[in-house]
Amino acid sequence: MTRFAYFEGEIVPIEQAQVSITCNTLHYGTGCFGGLRGYWNEEQAQLYAFRLVDHYTRFLNSCKLLLCNLDYTPQQLADITVQLLAREGWRENVYIRPIMYKDDGVFRVWLHDANDKVAIFSQPVSKYIKADKGAKVCVSAWRRVDDASIPARGKVNGAYVNSALIKSDALLSGYDEAIVLNQDGHVSEGSAANFMMVRDGVLITPPVTDNILEGITRRTIIHLARTELDLEIVERQIDRTELYLCDEAFFCGTGVQVTGIGSIDNRQVGNGGVGPITGQIRDLYFDVVYGRVDRYRHWLSAVPVLEAA
Ligand code: PMP
Repeated sequence: MTRFAYFEGEIVPIEQAQVSITCNTLHYGTGCFGGLRGYWNEEQAQLYAFRLVDHYTRFLNSCKLLLCNLDYTPQQLADITVQLLAREGWRENVYIRPIMYKDDGVFRVWLHDANDKVAIFSQPVSKYIKADKGAKVCVSAWRRVDDASIPARGKVNGAYVNSALIKSDALLSGYDEAIVLNQDGHVSEGSAANFMMVRDGVLITPPVTDNILEGITRRTIIHLARTELDLEIVERQIDRTELYLCDEAFFCGTGVQVTGIGSIDNRQVGNGGVGPITGQIRDLYFDVVYGRVDRYRHWLSAVPVLEAA
């Protein structure tokens, strides 16, 4: 099957989507990116891309933080993505990766007046397996990049060195993932996912001013928990020791979806598996992204099936 990418303003075979080793972003991390998913609904034989316009709004905001010159609207990028996915003809779950890079040479360590380009590609992601075992998590010794250094609210390429240090050290120490604290010692998020916990039936998550990525999944879950599950949600600072007292905890994000946490720093969370409220949120989230809840179909873009695909 021929794979495609959106590159230099058109959809081309993916082998043609190549950038040079002199590319500025490769050297200085001056790009930004997005991470989206398409869900294949087997019964409907339909691929649904989730919250494209919201993802591209955040993507263009990340671009704005990096002083980009781009003409795209979120809707245009959403339309391009649907065209690309239609050309690919996927009949399985896919991950979609837009990236903005500064296609300039290396002798400029600055952001303005650059040759900003957008590329998009997609690839299959492994099937979702129902995780009934909670993740083994530690609090990282690293601290989250601060808004005064590199804004965590944007998906800035260079900032993912911070994520990679957090993740590698967690994995190499025998954990599945880590929670990272801010410079001031409050909980921020996971290496590449937002964090939520439940205490006394209340869903608690750090505010967007605590150096978190403004997650689309986080926003989705806040909405669903409030309107569909009638849960109380509080966005507030979280102390490290609250992590040891919570009843449930989970990560949420496009990649991890909803992943229950079984222990934090070797202290069991709840019953050590996926807690009941977490399970409810996860099941509803999957119903929504797979297009099984009509009132949330406006969050989904149905990818047309092309004759030749
Ligand atoms: N935080 C970080 C650092 C991430 O990389 C991600 C994944 N994009 C998230 C949170 C979750 O964001 P979203 O729900 O938009 O995927």
